[in-house]
Amino acid sequence: MAGFSLELNEDQTDLRDWVHGFAEDVIRPAAAEWDEREETPWPVIKEAAKLGVYGFESLATWFSDPTGLSLPIATEELFWGDAGIGLALMGTGLAVAGIFAAGEPEQLVEWVPACFGDEDDPKLAAFCASEPQAGSDVAGYRTRARYDEATDEWVINGQKAWATNGGIANVHVVTAVVDPELGARGQAGFIVPPGTPGVHSTRKIRKHGLRASHTADVFFDDVRVPGRCVLGGRERLAARLARAREGQRAGGQAAMATFETTRPTVGAMAVGVARAAYEYALDYAKQREAFGRPIVEHQSIAFDLANMRMEIDAARLLVWRAAWMGRSDVPFTAGEGSMSKLKAGEVAVWATERAIHILGGAGYTREHPVERMHRDAKIFTIFEGTSEIQRLVISRAISGRHIR
Ligand SMILES: Cc1cc2nc3c(=O)[nH]c(=O)nc-3n(C[C@H](O)[C@H](O)[C@H](O)COP(=O)(O)OP(=O)(O)OC[C@H]3O[C@@H](n4cnc5c(N)ncnc54)[C@H](O)[C@@H]3O)c2cc1C
Repeated sequence: MAGFSLELNEDQTDLRDWVHGFAEDVIRPAAAEWDEREETPWPVIKEAAKLGVYGFESLATWFSDPTGLSLPIATEELFWGDAGIGLALMGTGLAVAGIFAAGEPEQLVEWVPACFGDEDDPKLAAFCASEPQAGSDVAGYRTRARYDEATDEWVINGQKAWATNGGIANVHVVTAVVDPELGARGQAGFIVPPGTPGVHSTRKIRKHGLRASHTADVFFDDVRVPGRCVLGGRERLAARLARAREGQRAGGQAAMATFETTRPTVGAMAVGVARAAYEYALDYAKQREAFGRPIVEHQSIAFDLANMRMEIDAARLLVWRAAWMGRSDVPFTAGEGSMSKLKAGEVAVWATERAIHILGGAGYTREHPVERMHRDAKIFTIFEGTSEIQRLVISRAISGRHIR
């Protein structure tokens, strides 16, 4: 029987060092510029595609690690480089996770490569679940998909909000209601292929942080997609809806299934930002002097740094546990996926604020990256389920009660 170890294997340390090198050499030098420009950093995406950091093959390799750790390891390094550019590179992964969570193998083969494009012409993908009136309340989606027997097409109508890469994506993965009577159980995921008429995005949203990542509302007006574009296929959908009508458990719901698989990865993003801020503050505290000594030798600063390191390590351990559980098909009986994202998100917000404080006035300026890191960190307590929603998932799991 194999013993327990938290030591990374050689493939994992090689991956970590390789992605770290890209983050240090390519992402970091570009971070402030793309944050100010508030534009998608295509030159960085193209460079990442050329080197194999962005693309179908890299994601497939990271995902195939049987320990589950390669994806969080690589993600942490990218977001250590910069969160806005990191999300510009990893946003496609959310749409791919949506296909993976609910799709048939042939749907993965057909659509995942189109999400990424190729090394000469990289593309992006978007996962469109949230709506203006319903973010946390996933049962409140109104976007409708109706099946047109005559043409074997699904017709999608509705408005999606906050979609990362929305409107600039090659492939949109959309959650829509197929049977409103069934509430959250009456939803399904759909692929909207490249160039499909009726997909519009009028407004790129201006944000507090993650400004290099494109976030937009997307409108679907009589969007017709082939019948084969419903994730999981029509037969499985019909069987699932029939079970739901009979009041049986129907194997979860499209958007939630995606979020379950992606939460540890989002936790790893938050760990990357927190670690970047901690390392910057530690270096600064060793050099900056006050009252005749480096500020790191003042106990309150040293204790802050000690707490930051401890909390970041604790968050990473929760992320790795959840990633391992997810990859090993160990059920999240206590909401472990949510725990990892909740802890890491809250640590990122707290640690980046502490980093600003350790830099004093300098930390509050754009001369140092910690103010950007703090703006970026706040998202990790909001998207992929707010901290309250993570606490709901955990408290329901541990109590067996329907906590509201
Ligand atoms: C930069 C960015 C990128 C995003 N990318 C995507 C994307 O790619 N795809 C996508 O589908 N969505 C995306 N989102 C949307 C994101 O997932 C939602 O904003 C998030 O789920 C919260 O939903 P909401 O904004 O509607 O807030 P609301 O649901 O209105 O929540 C408002 C507040 O009420 C609290 N609250 C709500 N319900 C409860 C409850 N039952 N108990 C206690 N508190 C509660 C929340 O925690 C929050 O504090 C993105 C958002 C942002 C800002």
